Amino acid sequence: MQIGGGKMAEVLQTEVLVVGAGAAGLRAAIELAGADVPHLVLGKRRHGDAHTRWAAGGINAVLGTRDPDDRWPVHAADTLKEGHFVCRPDTVETLAREAPDRVRELAGWGCDFQRAGDGGIEQRYFGAQTYRRTCFVGDRTGRAILETLVGRAAEVGVPYREDVMVTELLVEGGRVVGAFGVDLRTGALLHIRCRAVLLAAGGCTALYHRSSSRPDENTGDGPALAYHAGATLRDMEFVQFHPTGMVGPGEMAGMLVTEAVRGEGGRLFDREGERFMERYSPEHMELDARDVVARAIDREIRDGRGTEQGGVLLDISHVDAERIRERLPAIVDRFHELGVDVTREPMEVAPTAHYAMGGVRVDFDSGRTDVPGLFAAGEVTSGVHGANRLGGNSLAETVVFGRRAGIHLARTASRNRPPPEASGALARAEERIQRLMEGGGDEEPAEVAADLRTLLSEHAGIVRSGEGVRAGLTALAALRARCVRLRAVPDRADPHFALAANLRHMLPVAEAILRSALEREESRGAHYREDRPEEDERWRRNVLAQGGKGEMMITTEPVADPSDEVRAALEEAEGVDYHHLE
Ligand SMILES: Cc1cc2nc3c(=O)[nH]c(=O)nc-3n(C[C@H](O)[C@H](O)[C@H](O)COP(=O)(O)OP(=O)(O)OC[C@H]3O[C@@H](n4cnc5c(N)ncnc54)[C@H](O)[C@@H]3O)c2cc1C
Repeated sequence: MQIGGGKMAEVLQTEVLVVGAGAAGLRAAIELAGADVPHLVLGKRRHGDAHTRWAAGGINAVLGTRDPDDRWPVHAADTLKEGHFVCRPDTVETLAREAPDRVRELAGWGCDFQRAGDGGIEQRYFGAQTYRRTCFVGDRTGRAILETLVGRAAEVGVPYREDVMVTELLVEGGRVVGAFGVDLRTGALLHIRCRAVLLAAGGCTALYHRSSSRPDENTGDGPALAYHAGATLRDMEFVQFHPTGMVGPGEMAGMLVTEAVRGEGGRLFDREGERFMERYSPEHMELDARDVVARAIDREIRDGRGTEQGGVLLDISHVDAERIRERLPAIVDRFHELGVDVTREPMEVAPTAHYAMGGVRVDFDSGRTDVPGLFAAGEVTSGVHGANRLGGNSLAETVVFGRRAGIHLARTASRNRPPPEASGALARAEERIQRLMEGGGDEEPAEVAADLRTLLSEHAGIVRSGEGVRAGLTALAALRARCVRLRAVPDRADPHFALAANLRHMLPVAEAILRSALEREESRGAHYREDRPEEDERWRRNVLAQGGKGEMMITTEPVADPSDEVRAALEEAEGVDYHHLE
């Protein structure tokens, strides 16, 4: 193949291609290596530097170190309740049953979880959990887990390639037969032939103006690659907004300001100095649930009571300075970089997109999607978290379902049969790369991407309405037209090339979020529609988005009932006030 000055694509061949080197991808690959199945792991950054590193607080597993009464049905019940009963109950049960073994396994592989006095793995409360079941490694749990998995993967011989962006999955005769991508460092093209692809490429929160991920992560590649290949997306309207992200320049914008600041006594003020939570939640004040606090801050900002930069003020300066330095060292340092001494002055904060509950629909026993040859695991999938994610459950999800997908792929691997050829699909993927290099106008990819982020934040943000979402869809059509007129980016190693390629991922994901938000005519969990402010029993359903002939099709499907054991746990938990913040 000849593209851009006669460069040939490097062709690699394997049995299973794992797209994503975060916790989900690596956990799956460890199974493949253990079963001697040829495979390759790809990631967009350096090996060991995936988004999982950023997870701080912890991973949930019923170990009973602190609270021996904790049981898997209670973990499942907490998850369903926080997910407003649109999680897949069987999937949630699997998560709750298997997380303890996965955490012990990580510990066995060297993850240095904090220990209790008796030597057991220490556990703490996390928001909306009945018992202490969150295991942690200081405030660097994700990093410790990822380093453990990277180490284990090296031990068992997992092969990987860094700095590669997959731009397209190759589908031939309705089956995924490989992937096409670019080495972001050298600009070299890659064609990977394989019999199965496991997508573990993360979520899509960077499609919002403020996001708690780095700008080149969670850019929607995973759900979009699956969608373009013919897979179904589910519950894309559910995006969790963390109430307090940093208001600052560059990469700092949207970075998480931990709940611990409010847990330590932090108070929220508008620019006139009013402690506005008194109006929204006089009982719980700043410690109410994430969605309540996020909506209150959003309202203040939209009603013109925010700061000039579009935030509100979070003040902890009334707390003893030594205690602040001891309990919140990362926050002290980060704001210091902005010239703010949080022991003496308030921080400027605003809600930030934090987690996408929606994603690819899979069968969680195997990770199988609707498309033969395509599997998925981790944040790219949907079904575990419903309308709102219980903190600490996503790390558990990565290792529980990453392992399951890996086991299934290892069992079904054909090993010696060569992967099918991709001819038409390959030619189309090459053409698209060529078009990006040649351009079609003078639209700047970075500007179009920024406008898309603003569009989604305005029309499908914390508070939505039918009218607002419809206006968003009209604006998206105009933005799509601009994507045809992108300026040429002839150098594939130029970061603008990845940005331009990413627009093809962002468009369908943004559309799926908008269309699903329009379809769900109620408010539930993270999805709040001011024109339909109540939760509606009839909407105990999942919203599905599928590619049709030329347009996205939206349908819905009902959610099954939980098992008797979980139902009993739900009844027991009634009336328990479990908004612990730690
Ligand atoms: C600030 C923060 C704190 C968090 N804290 C917690 C917590 O305490 N507990 C908890 O349970 N969860 C937490 N989460 C959520 C949790 O970190 C994620 O859900 C989880 O790490 C996702 O893991 P993953 O393996 O699915 O994907 P990721 O870790 O996002 O990995 C995705 C991988 O896919 C690769 N990739 C993406 N696109 C492409 C492409 N086109 N081509 C090739 N490779 C690609 C990436 O480079 C990366 O290697 C937190 C999230 C944030 C933002």
